[in-house]
Amino acid sequence: MSDEVLQGSCLCGAIRYRVRAPFVRFAHCHCSRCRKATGSGHATNLVVAPANLDWVAGRDQVQRFDLPSAKSFSTAVCRTCGSPVPRLSRDGQRVIVPAGSLDDVPSIQPTARGYWDSRAPWSCSGDDLPRFPESLG
Ligand SMILES: [Zn+2]
Ligand SMILES: [Zn+2]
Repeated sequence: MSDEVLQGSCLCGAIRYRVRAPFVRFAHCHCSRCRKATGSGHATNLVVAPANLDWVAGRDQVQRFDLPSAKSFSTAVCRTCGSPVPRLSRDGQRVIVPAGSLDDVPSIQPTARGYWDSRAPWSCSGDDLPRFPESLG
């Protein structure tokens, strides 16, 4: 569905956004940074082009953090509730949408697991998705 639009929001509702297809990627990331950033076994991120993200409310409530020791890793959270929200990649080429912040269900499913070699042994992974030892690129 090329006209697919998904709504998303943070936990407290201060931040609301919309993302539009096409979706560049939908995948899990098992790297240690995503574990820290999400507090979970892996991140699940939907990736779109920057032009396909619209902030509906609370854009000024987004707090961004660019990890100094990393070339590309960033996080963005709501200043009030601390939950992850979409962020522009540091190279400005894409928007990473934390799938858990979506209020709608995407028509597609995740297609891969990145940083598989860095996974926590307790992380869920019961499927046959392709597994990549490091970055998905
Ligand atoms: Zn919030
Ligand atoms: Zn990661």
